[in-house]
Formats: sequence, C-alpha cells, structure tokens
Amino acid sequence: MSRIILGLVAILANAACVLAQSPPAWKATGEGFVLDSTHPVRPGDTRSFDVRIRLTLDETTGEGQIALADKDDAKSPPDLWYWRRGRLFQSNDAEQDLPPKGCVDLSPAAIAVLHPGLLAAYLRERPENTDAPTGPAGDNTPRFVAVGDVLWRVEPGPQAGSASSGIGSLSRTVHDDVQGTLLERIRYEGRTVTVTRATPLDPGPARVIAKFEFDEPRPEAKYRTPKGDPDRDAAMVVPPEEFTFRDLGGGLFACELARANARVFVVEFDDGLLVFEGVFSSRNAETLAAAVRERFRKPATHFAFSHIHPQYLAGVRAWASEGVTILAPPTSAKAVADTLAASFNLRPDAWSRKPGEPRIETVAERWTREDASASVVVINNPKSDHTDEFFIVYMPRTKTLLTGDLLFYRPGQPLRSRSLTLARYVKEIGLEIDRCVTTWPLQWVGKNELSGEELRAAAQAGEEAEAAAPPKP
Ligand SMILES: [Zn+2]
Repeated sequence: MSRIILGLVAILANAACVLAQSPPAWKATGEGFVLDSTHPVRPGDTRSFDVRIRLTLDETTGEGQIALADKDDAKSPPDLWYWRRGRLFQSNDAEQDLPPKGCVDLSPAAIAVLHPGLLAAYLRERPENTDAPTGPAGDNTPRFVAVGDVLWRVEPGPQAGSASSGIGSLSRTVHDDVQGTLLERIRYEGRTVTVTRATPLDPGPARVIAKFEFDEPRPEAKYRTPKGDPDRDAAMVVPPEEFTFRDLGGGLFACELARANARVFVVEFDDGLLVFEGVFSSRNAETLAAAVRERFRKPATHFAFSHIHPQYLAGVRAWASEGVTILAPPTSAKAVADTLAASFNLRPDAWSRKPGEPRIETVAERWTREDASASVVVINNPKSDHTDEFFIVYMPRTKTLLTGDLLFYRPGQPLRSRSLTLARYVKEIGLEIDRCVTTWPLQWVGKNELSGEELRAAAQAGEEAEAAAPPKP
C-alpha cells in the first residue's frame, strides 16, 4: 500500500478515534472576519466584516448549524446554515430546504467544512466521498474528498485540538469570472481556521477571505435542524427521541416512527423481549436497541422481521450484535446470513466492530412462545403475494395481528391485491382477529390500525368486487 493511502487511512482512523471521544453534541464559538470584494469602489477595493461564529453539531444524528453574526450590527439576526449528515442547506420560517448561499467572499463549499470538527464528522457521515480507504493497494490516486458538488484536495496536517480531523488543509481550484482561475484553501491550525484565495501564477501572498479563532468545543444539548427536505439527505436517521413505546395490551408495544413512516413492535415476556421489524439501517436499529434497553430493562432474546425487503432486513446486524436469536423463514435465513457477513467497512456498525457467532433460528411454519406476560405466534405466510415467505405475528390473547406491509385499508373501499390475499389467508388458517396493526405505511390516506370487523367487511367487499370484475391473469 502506498504511503499516500496509508496516510489517508491514518487520517480517517484518527477522525473516527476523535469522534469516539466527542460528546454526542457540542458547540464551538469564535470570532473573526469575512472579506467582501464584491462591490469595489476602485480596483482592488475590499471591505471586511467582523463576525461572531457559532457552530453546533449533534454527532448522534449528524445535524448541525453554523451561525454568522455581524459584530457591528447587533440588531440583525445571524445568517444561518444547516448541516445534515454532510449536506449544507438553508431554510426559512416554513422550514423549507433552500440551496446554501455564500457569505460575501466566503463560499458555501467552505462554510460546509468551516471547522475541523465539522470536517471530521463529514468523513464519518460520507466516507464514500473520499478515495480511501477502499482504494486498491498500491493505488497512487491523490487524496480527495467531495463535499456537496465540490472536490477538495486533502493535505494532511498535525493533529490539532480535540475536534481535529487530522487534516491540515483542503484546497481546490475555482473559476472566477473576473479573476480567472483561483486556488481556494482552508487551513486548520489549532483552533484557527483560515480561508484564502490565490491566483496560481501570482507569487504574492494569498488573499485571506475569512479567518476565525474558535474556542474549545463545549458539550451541548441535542440539536435538530429545521425539517428541510429529508429526501435529499444521504441517510435516513431516526432521532432517539422518536423511539417511544405505546402499550397495545397483552404484552405488545408499538413504536411509531414518523421519520421512517413505519412501526416496530416489542413483545414483553416475563424475562425477555421479542422485537419485530427492522428500521432501515444498523444506525437506526442500534438506536432502537438502546431505547428498548432503557424502556424495558430486560434483554431482547429474539428478533424477527416480516420480510426480506431492505427496510426490515437492515435491522439484523444491530440485533445480532446484541446477542439476540434472529428468527427467519428458511430461504430468508440466507439473506440474514449474507447481511451479517457483508463488509460494513465504510459505515462501521456495532456488528462490524465486534462480530460474533450469529444465532439464526429457522422457522418454516410457526414459532410460539407463551408465559404470564404475553403469548405470541410468529407465522410464516407462504401466500403473501409480496415475497415468497412473510412473517405475520399473531397475539392470541388480544386477537391482534401484525400485518407488516400486507394491509392497505381505506374506509369504505374494498380490499384489493395483497390486502385481499392476506384477508383470505388469515381466514383460511382460522385466525380470530379483533385488531390489525400494520408496520408500513404509517401515514397515508388509509388506516394503519383497524378492527377485525373492518377487515372482514372490506374483504367481503373485495370478494364481491373481484367476482364482478375478475383481475386479468
Ligand atoms: Zn415489502
């Protein structure tokens, strides 16, 4: 492996190490200036603004804010930028997602990485945007990091301060319509961050665009950005405060996650828990596992998920790392084993940091467990019209059925397609049903929780509609 690659691996390892020591959320304030050369009175004329800067970053969810206030204009509110898992945006009173503007000569590209701690968080949130550590051995590719639509060249530097990324500076060439090609550089020296622009042919000193002296980062309460457009984010991260548990009776608890538009379920036995459904990623499932520990104070012993679509399957690594037995139908068990064996070196999770011997229990037909607290039957449904195998979960004491994403019920409308197929299946196997609770979608025009009567009436209407107009083969 080349020295260059080794160097960047060291930088990334250093960034990860620094982040491991960082508080979940922190704040750094500072003072400095920003240059304005946009409206010269005569050639070479500039003015500069003395500014206060405040940076807030919540490492738990990867959400941050950068505030710049004019020191000579105490009346005006600061200019605000938001940072979500590496993406910079601005917003308004309606919490819309607006493209980030610069601040006079300071570019939005520079604002996105305006503090070494922000850059370190970027490397963790968007590791795929660097040319390491996955480059082939012996690869001499220069070291780059792409941020937004900008490509920065990375120059290693001494470790500087507790929030350091180990990167000394970032540089890029930019085109200016008046000055032509310029070299922009952000230099991180201790708690000082300097942004310069130079013309490559000019031997004189680079022009300082902005310079900030930050104080030491201090712990901060959690921070959340305005809503913006979450679909533009690199990853969907459910904040820890969303994981609350609603008691549905009979030992069953539902956790409704607005950000994921989905539910997960916990069945509480005397001495352990069954968790049902994944939540899109290891990161979310690990947050869920922590919330489950905190709320129930009992070990999760079993994890099951309705079917192998990524939203659900992506929970297995978090639960495997908790030492939980994973229940899966026969061919779905292969998908579980493959996901547990997959390389997660770009976004390490608890399982990749400490892999163990996975416990996978194959359930061909039914898995039952019963004690004084709860009674549950996990049923492998081979007729879902959705995937070859599909777990539905039945709670006999409350006659409650957890339907995964098989049931789309709209009041007054007949069931169709996979919803009607589910109604037929539960009738065929003789389940008495008083209540159905879906996993997904949580918010839509129909209902996500319905009575047995509603299910049966809509199924009857569905049968009549199909008899009148049979579906095309
Ligand atoms: Zn599905």
